[in-house]
This record gives sequence, structure tokens and C-alpha cells, in this order.
Amino acid sequence: MSALIVQPRARIFHGHDWVYATEVKNRVGDPQPGDVVTLKDVRGKSLGSAIYNPKSQIVARRFSFRNQELDQDFFTRRIQRAVNHRVSLGIDTQLSRLVWSESDGLPGLIVDRYGEHVVLQTLTLAMDLRKDAIVQALVEVLKPKSIIERNEAPVRRAEGMELMKGVIYGEPSEPAQLKHEGIVFRVDLIDGQKTGLYIDQLDNYRHVARLAKGRSVLDCFTNQGGFAQACALAGATRVVAVDSSESAIAVARSNANASGTNIEFIEANCFDLLKESDVRGDRHDLIILDPPSFTKTKQSVNDALRGYKEIHLRALKMLPTGGILSTFSCSHHISQMEFHQMIVDAAVDAKRTLRQVTVYGQRPDHPIIAGLPETEYLRGYAFEVVASW
Ligand code: SAH
Repeated sequence: MSALIVQPRARIFHGHDWVYATEVKNRVGDPQPGDVVTLKDVRGKSLGSAIYNPKSQIVARRFSFRNQELDQDFFTRRIQRAVNHRVSLGIDTQLSRLVWSESDGLPGLIVDRYGEHVVLQTLTLAMDLRKDAIVQALVEVLKPKSIIERNEAPVRRAEGMELMKGVIYGEPSEPAQLKHEGIVFRVDLIDGQKTGLYIDQLDNYRHVARLAKGRSVLDCFTNQGGFAQACALAGATRVVAVDSSESAIAVARSNANASGTNIEFIEANCFDLLKESDVRGDRHDLIILDPPSFTKTKQSVNDALRGYKEIHLRALKMLPTGGILSTFSCSHHISQMEFHQMIVDAAVDAKRTLRQVTVYGQRPDHPIIAGLPETEYLRGYAFEVVASW
């Protein structure tokens, strides 16, 4: 088998599973893109098996500490293990991310289950080349009605792959409404704009809604209205939900009708809306901020932090003493400390003292691996305004 000799002091010696192009000392044999290679240290000791793609910055991703082929049997075992892990945590696996890439020992493979249907993404070349074996393994473990490929993530280009989507097994699902803890979502697995729902936020709807009873709620970046519906169901006195996407607002409105929740939807840019509402002197008792990632790279972190601060400042000024801000960052490039400091800075400018009420994270069906910081990306806090000056 071909091998890569890894430079001393590479991150793989510090708990990581990736090898960057700059960390390869030499290649042994003639590994082809998508092949399995053995990783070795300079003394020739094996570090395990990895998938190889010289087109990517990350040329190798370790998936096993042994000599291991990527065959159907291996996929079946890893997928079963990933499902068992979620079951053991008490996660409703009917609506869940069942396989999350490196976190489940399958770098580049993402599998989501929506009831009887499964959505698959293969974001590394090695996984993409073995799609047939993966589909067979999924059929064996999950017995789904259909498997849909939503391979439209731009990161595929970094691995030299095209973007594509379609049904790759069985009878596809019609667009359908799905109910989760009383919240209604529309799921269009084939033509939906997204690959599905924000599954990583599913538990946080419940956590935030716990703070909503008797409060007037503003849900910014609502998408399908998950937070807004949960808050309305939990007894909020008023719920206003905002998103800049016309189609998201249309879906969210029909979801709210179906769940019987009373929500005022506004199609607007949250930056403009928060500024106007602040200037007008609007008040809410609970404001939720769940923006998209403002930065995909380390280079634009400062711009992203300025954007975050602007919406936090406006939101905090609209909260009276006793009001609550629930806020999320889904950008891995913004550290927990930077995010936290930005909130502190915004609070000073807004003349508010904040008391931490809750810390939020990603749903545990997106497991965090301690040595792989890239697997932790969703953070959030609830802060109560304890003084306004
Ligand atoms: N809170 C949602 C997920 C939000 S995803 C949930 O839990 O499901 C981010 C959303 O922000 C998307 O729906 C996108 O349409 C919207 N968006 C992006 N930029 C925006 C802006 N400037 N103003 C308002 N909405 C925006």
C-alpha cells in the first residue's frame, strides 16, 4: 500500500487526524486521488490509514489507526456505530444527523435521516468514489425508502468534484410537513433550497422556548421559524420573526399556520430592521439572534465581528432590564472568547449589564472530537439584562 511520511511536529502528532500538504515529507508508491494510504512517521512507524487527495489542502484524513480498507463491511460497521451512539444519547434518530464526517470516523460523509428518507453528502473524493458501497451499507443498516444525494456544497470543488443532486436509491419522498415537538417544518429533500433543516439547532428551540413564557419575542434570522414556533407554543405573549429570504418567510408562515401558532412574519434584512426598531424605540423581552456564518475564512474574522457587534448592540438596546438575549454563532473561525468579548463590548456600548443564563451548543448528533477543533462550531448564550444605565 502507498504511504505518506509525515513531518515531525505535524498536527497529527497532537491529536488531530488531518495531514496538510505542507506536512508531508515524502510519498512512497504512487497513490491516486481517493486512494487509501498508510501514514507513517519519519522512522517508518505506522500512524494509521487515511484517505488521500492531493488536490485538497488537506491531503490526507486519517480514519483508522489500523491497516483498513474502505469496503462495504467497514461502512456498515461505522454507520451502525454512529447510529448506536445517537440512540445511547436518547436522540430521536428519526430526525437526526446520523453520520457527521470526522466525528463519526468517516471523513467527508454526512448522512441525515428524515423519517423513512435519507439525505447523503460525500464531500471528500474518497467517499464520493465509494458511494455505491455506502448506499448498500445505509440500506442494510437503515432500510430507508429512499436515499437522496445533495452534493451541492461548494467544498466539493476543493476536492476536484462537481456539484450534483438526485435520488440515488428507492422511491423519493414528496415534499412533506414534519412535526418535531409541536414545531412544523416543511421538508423538501430534493428541491428544497437547503439540504434539509438546521438539525444542529433542534434541541436549542426547546432550551430557548423555556425562557419565552409571558414574553414578547423577536426571532431574527428565523428561516423556517423553528425558534419562533417553539416560543409561541411555550406561551410567549407576542412573536415577531424576521428573515431576508422571501421563500423562507413563505415556508415559515405556512409552517406556523400548520402548527397553529400566531407569529408576525417580516421579510427584511435584520441589520436594517434592528436599526429601525431601535431608533423607533421598539421593545421586546426576548430577542433571538441566529445569523448565518458571517465568515468562512480566518481572514474575514474582523469584518464578521463588526457585523455581529452591530446586531448585538441594536438588540441589547431594545431589551429592558429583565429582558433576555439568546444568541448563536455558527462560525468555527470565531472563537468562543472572541464571540463572548464581542457581546461584552456591545453591552458596554448599549449601556447594559448582562448576567449569563445559559450556554448553548450544537445538538449532540454533531459530535465534537476533542483533538479536532473544527468539529466544534455552534456556540450560543442566553444573557439576561440585569441593569440598564
Ligand atoms: N434560526 C434558523 C436558522 C437560521 S439560518 C433555524 O433555527 O432554523 C440563517 C438565516 O438567515 C437564513 O434563513 C437566511 O435566509 C437568513 N439571513 C441571512 N442574512 C440575513 C439578513 N441580513 N437579514 C435577515 N435574514 C438573513
